[in-house]
Amino acid sequence: LLMCCWAAMAEAEYMKYKDPKRPLNVRINDLMSRMTLEEKIGQMVQIDRSVASAEVMEKYFIGSVLSGGGSVPAKQASAETWINMVNDFQKGSLSTRLGIPMIYGIDAVHGHNAVYNATIFPHNVGLGVTRDPGLVKRIGAATALEVKATGIPYVFAPCIAVCRDPRWGRCFESYSEDTNIVQAMTEIVPGLQGDIPANYPKGVPFVARKEKVAACAKHYVGDGGTTKGINENNTVIDRHGLLSIHMPGYYSSIIKGVATIMVSYSSWNGVKMHANRDLITGFLKKTLRFRGFVISDWEGLDRMTSPPHANYSHSIEAGIHAGIDMIMIPYNYTEFIDGLTFLVKNNIIPMSRIDDAIKRILRVKFVMGLFENPLADLSLVNQLGSKEHRELAREAVRKSLVLLKNGESADEPLLPLPKKASKILVAGTHADNLGYQCGGWTIEWEGLAGNNLTIGTTILTAIKSTIDPETQAIYEENPDADFVKSNNFSYAIVVVGELPYVETSGDSLNLTIPDPGPYTITNVCGAVKCVVIIISGRPVVIEPYVATMDALVAAWLPGTEGQGVADVLFGDYDFTGTLARTWFKTVDQLPMNIGDPHYDPLFPFGFGLTTKSAS
Ligand code: BGC
Repeated sequence: LLMCCWAAMAEAEYMKYKDPKRPLNVRINDLMSRMTLEEKIGQMVQIDRSVASAEVMEKYFIGSVLSGGGSVPAKQASAETWINMVNDFQKGSLSTRLGIPMIYGIDAVHGHNAVYNATIFPHNVGLGVTRDPGLVKRIGAATALEVKATGIPYVFAPCIAVCRDPRWGRCFESYSEDTNIVQAMTEIVPGLQGDIPANYPKGVPFVARKEKVAACAKHYVGDGGTTKGINENNTVIDRHGLLSIHMPGYYSSIIKGVATIMVSYSSWNGVKMHANRDLITGFLKKTLRFRGFVISDWEGLDRMTSPPHANYSHSIEAGIHAGIDMIMIPYNYTEFIDGLTFLVKNNIIPMSRIDDAIKRILRVKFVMGLFENPLADLSLVNQLGSKEHRELAREAVRKSLVLLKNGESADEPLLPLPKKASKILVAGTHADNLGYQCGGWTIEWEGLAGNNLTIGTTILTAIKSTIDPETQAIYEENPDADFVKSNNFSYAIVVVGELPYVETSGDSLNLTIPDPGPYTITNVCGAVKCVVIIISGRPVVIEPYVATMDALVAAWLPGTEGQGVADVLFGDYDFTGTLARTWFKTVDQLPMNIGDPHYDPLFPFGFGLTTKSAS
């Protein structure tokens, strides 16, 4: 009898941290006071889903799981499959002694882009063009709903890089070369997380519960400023330049309650950001009073291999000492756990540093309501790829287009195109390819070619559904000049551009339009009135061909809703977008940004015609 009652009493022990009525700090402190070193170090670890299981979560007290790049349960996995997978890992975490829930994160950088049937919004390079923070906030809210529909509460977005050189392979993830635009677009943070209540303490993360996700501003800091745009490289700039160009997006995100911040692979003046204690602990945590958690990038510590980071132990020490709280390992987690345990037990890393990390991680988890609602349900599954979200994406596409040329003079504009014509030509590699239209970070990490990767509308399909039913549209991907001349086309629409890429694979020193793009432009535009639509993650070399074109539109990476392009081409809406990036003439001019002394672009920052304005 006695045995049974002791057990019952122990089980019923009142745990303050489990009581949602208790103040945040009381809950955090109570839970921390119960945690062992092993449990604390586990919380700091984020592993990839491909190595996660309920058993691993439980055994190592793992604090977080991610879907890195294209790490998905199955290509066309349903929302239910995702939910089951996330819940399965969560059950492992809930089975631990203290039952601390894990947090699952994913790269949702233009909608819930790893998931089949999700709405894919234009990449940030197009959103900057809209100059419409309210629109970007609504996109954040839609993305949060779609991510939550699959049981995931955390996204590695927004990327608030200020891309200063389009040779950088991640330029398309940046809203603009201009700090003010990037800063304004941090409205996506309250879109994703919810509006911070009045008088909320500064720097404390805020995430409204059911329909919102925790966000992650990345990559801290100076990722868009590397020399020649080389990915993960060195940003050479003085402190004033760093703070005035690359930092303001972080001030704004923190004020809006951003939950987490990801550290950049790049270095600042030769020092790896992952080892920069001055900027992480000093500036971010102390000066800016950021109270959420700082996360490393994927294998961020493992990749610090060159001097002064002589071995893995030294890299762990440098990263944790710098102030990183959660480490995206993502595979060799036992090595990390052993390494950090050794450093703490030997007083190389002080316990106070571990406690700072745990406090921040728990703060985010408590604020999000993960302790109260750790498991996902099916209540939001209808949000995935919903009609409303596709309409929103279509609106964003319309607003992200920039009209760069329209006829030789305002008297003879080509656009808007007549819906009624006898026969029109649609040409180019990118006219009927959803994968090209979406770019990198779509289903696969590096993006895909082709139309069956997910659900959406190609530009060709959109054109066909917009023109008069009696207008004949002929699609020829790479027509030769004779073909174009021998048909009596009323006009032609040529859609060409870059092929999908991400990160380092996107670095380019020449920025040319891949073949046969230039050939198609030359053949078609030499023979018939033509509008050229460029699909690209950044300005590309077009100066040699502009004279042959009758009209030119920059469409960036519009995503799944190609209908937005046809809406504007055929005049249902006018162009409103203006360049958020300088369009260079030749790559020798790079880097060249608004305000530079020898500014001599092909199209300046801020340029953009309407169909009613003069060319
Ligand atoms: C990228 C991050 C991304 C992470 C997780 C890294 O390679 O730099 O932006 O969030 O992978 O997929």
